[in-house]
Amino acid sequence: MFNLVIFGAPGSGKGTQSEKLIDKYGLYHISTGQVLRDQIARKTPDGILADSYISKGHLIPDDLMVKILGDVLDSKKDLTAKGIVFDGFPRTIKQAEALRKMLDERGTGIHAVIGLDVDEDELIKRLLNRGKTSGRSDDNLDTIKERLNVYHNETSPLREYYSSLGCYHPIDGSGTVDDIFDRIANHVDKLK
Ligand code: AMP
Repeated sequence: MFNLVIFGAPGSGKGTQSEKLIDKYGLYHISTGQVLRDQIARKTPDGILADSYISKGHLIPDDLMVKILGDVLDSKKDLTAKGIVFDGFPRTIKQAEALRKMLDERGTGIHAVIGLDVDEDELIKRLLNRGKTSGRSDDNLDTIKERLNVYHNETSPLREYYSSLGCYHPIDGSGTVDDIFDRIANHVDKLK
């Protein structure tokens, strides 16, 4: 398997670039944000709990998030894809350690972390723009600012974490979707 984490602040293009990665490399996409939004729509107990965090721009507690991701991995045991793109997970060091353990138990690991670098002004612009059509409770200015704070405080330390493991690849996340994807594919092609 060839497993990737697509990493970056809210609005950095993780979801958009994941779609292109799965098309080009035959990977399976796990977006934890999407998993949670599906659970909210189905009004499951996990979804109801998650909703109260998401709408404030806060992270779902690690233990719950790790359990939810474990459930997704268990339900995909017969996965025929060549690997997984993790989009939106991990978001804390604790989650990164849990992911390492979960993949280790399944005889695999994370092969590369692709980090998308985008200016803060551009992130806010993209998220406000998405908010016009996304219907997401967290794409409004106050919640966007909180999500960016949370990213800086809790998630960005993962850059150091994965750099020290030698698998972090920073990518310029500005420009057109295709330009950004070309930069990503350049790195991925060298790794495979
Ligand atoms: P996203 O779709 O990746 O932007 O995620 C939307 C929201 O879902 C985040 O702002 C968090 O509230 C929640 N969420 C998604 N993934 C995680 C995660 N790995 N850990 C904690 N909360 C998460």
